[in-house]
Amino acid sequence: EIPPINGDFYELGKTLPPNEREIQLRVREFMEREIRPIANEYWNKAKFPMDIIPKMAELNIAGLTYNGYGCPGHSALLEGFIAMEMARVDTSMSTFFGVQSGLAMGSIYLCGSEEQKQHWLPKMQKLETIGAFGLTEPEVGSAVAGGLTTTCKREGDEWILNGQKKWIGNATFSDITVIWARDLDDQQVKGFIVRKDNPGFKAEKIENKMALRTVQNALITMEKCEVPESDRLQNANSFKDTAEVLRMTRAGVAWQAVGCARGAYEAALKYTNERKQFGRPIASFQLVQDMLVTMLGDLTAMQSMVFRLSQMQDKGELLDEHASLAKVFCTLRMRDIVDHARELFGGNGILLEYDIARFVADAEAIYSYEGTKEINSLIVGRAITGHSAFV
Ligand code: FAD
Repeated sequence: EIPPINGDFYELGKTLPPNEREIQLRVREFMEREIRPIANEYWNKAKFPMDIIPKMAELNIAGLTYNGYGCPGHSALLEGFIAMEMARVDTSMSTFFGVQSGLAMGSIYLCGSEEQKQHWLPKMQKLETIGAFGLTEPEVGSAVAGGLTTTCKREGDEWILNGQKKWIGNATFSDITVIWARDLDDQQVKGFIVRKDNPGFKAEKIENKMALRTVQNALITMEKCEVPESDRLQNANSFKDTAEVLRMTRAGVAWQAVGCARGAYEAALKYTNERKQFGRPIASFQLVQDMLVTMLGDLTAMQSMVFRLSQMQDKGELLDEHASLAKVFCTLRMRDIVDHARELFGGNGILLEYDIARFVADAEAIYSYEGTKEINSLIVGRAITGHSAFV
């Protein structure tokens, strides 16, 4: 008899309190019912399934850890499990959700004034207002900390923004985009809530992506884009505040990597039991079992790591280097796991309908976004050696 497929080998999910475990399982059920059947189709078309948004809103999980403003105020641990459940089925969908709930809502939650939070967060929590987060530029990716070229300048009650942002997830259809720009007067980085119909703001879809194809990434161009002072994030005073948002979301990306790896491992375990060669399921061969066990060992180590990471976050003990180490380690191991899974599918591993090809491609994007391996390694390296390798 074939045992049940369970990528949570040490059953970490069972340690959640019952009310949070119920939410985790509700998200799993939603992903299997609503997303799994359409994931490959939308990925192939490079379109986003807009009609999913109101259904996802019913789960009541956006802004999960924030207190007040219509947000449920759950643990960071549950938030991690949710990111994993989403990525386990479709990493594009977990990315859409991560941009909305983490990057966009998080910027407003951490850096907005009381009035801004009250205005935007309840609508974003219900996914009635969709957000995006614009930090990266065509010529400035890893070096955003000191190198932003998008500028802002105050003129009376208005700010004038000029520059470009690249890769901005959700921004082709988002109602608002949080834009980070350098103030020409005090040279500090400031944040702005820019509305989609703002004159001087243009978002064009980036075509021909080979990963996360369902996610709509935009190239944003701002030419004399006027933003009222009331839409400047009132508590974003320097890049340190931007980094605060990234610390939180990087932990989420580590969980996404676990989800992507878990989805690939579980698919491989199922497939190797179904696929027969030499008259036996390929899962019965020693070399195949060795590969599955290697994958499971890595996956279990990753899960244990992010589990502890989120516990630290819940205790307010999370530092940049903690989140960066998990991002580096989990995305590296994820890459190996999806590759092994692809191998175990043989030729079918390159056909979209078997899911694995999508996992392999999507893994490449999460490996690079929210800080590459090198940049996150340098953040950890600086913390453990006391020497900054950044120029
Ligand atoms: P580069 O910075 O050009 O790096 C190229 C290579 O050089 C990398 O291997 C890098 O590690 C290496 N390198 C650079 N500096 C050093 C150094 N000092 N030492 C050693 N190696 C170094 N950004 C947003 O603002 N909002 C979004 O919503 C968003 N979504 C994204 C979605 C996708 C699918 C992708 C691919 C990207 C997204 N990004 C987004 C941008 C993402 O965060 C950047 O791609 C990432 O930070 C890397 O920047 P870069 O692509 O410009 O690479």
